[in-house]
Amino acid sequence: DSCPEPVKMSVNERTFIAVKPDGVHRGLVGKIIARFEERGYKLVALKQLTASKGHLEVHYQDLKEKPFFPGLIDYMASGPIVAMVWQGLDVVKQGRVMLGATNPLASAPGTIRGDFAIQTGRNICHGSDSVDSANREIAHWFKPDEINDYASPFINSWVYE
Ligand code: UDP
Ligand code: MG
Repeated sequence: DSCPEPVKMSVNERTFIAVKPDGVHRGLVGKIIARFEERGYKLVALKQLTASKGHLEVHYQDLKEKPFFPGLIDYMASGPIVAMVWQGLDVVKQGRVMLGATNPLASAPGTIRGDFAIQTGRNICHGSDSVDSANREIAHWFKPDEINDYASPFINSWVYE
């Protein structure tokens, strides 16, 4: 028949999450990590680095025509970021919900931006907006051997049913 295949969600889905320079300077790295850990997602890669403008221009390639692009690149290159890969069921979409809206003034309390930020240009965190973006961004920020796909029996039996 013509019924579409149901979308298969994977417990191995991955997303790219970064604490931006303002989040690092403000000491919010631990709080942001804690939210993903406490939810039950698995941290499979993490590093701190100061990104070059060239690297950031590729990361944000879809936004290069936007008027805020130069300021965005300056902001993101202005200090260290903490780059992470988180893994788990529906983590791309759930990660975006946990971050909140791009504009923190439109972010619900309980979200990271809604709790810790006020303006769009200082919104402290990044999260991939689709599975395809996540795959592209993870490959852009991490080498394959920097990603640790360890077994976690605790998560397997106590986070998932
Ligand atoms: N940004 C900005 N001004 C805007 C829109 C976006 O400074 O009007 C910055 C902001 O830091 C945002 C980033 O550009 O997080 C990327 O924009 P995008 O629309 O992809 O939002 P996000 O996916 O981060 O929520
Ligand atoms: Mg985006």
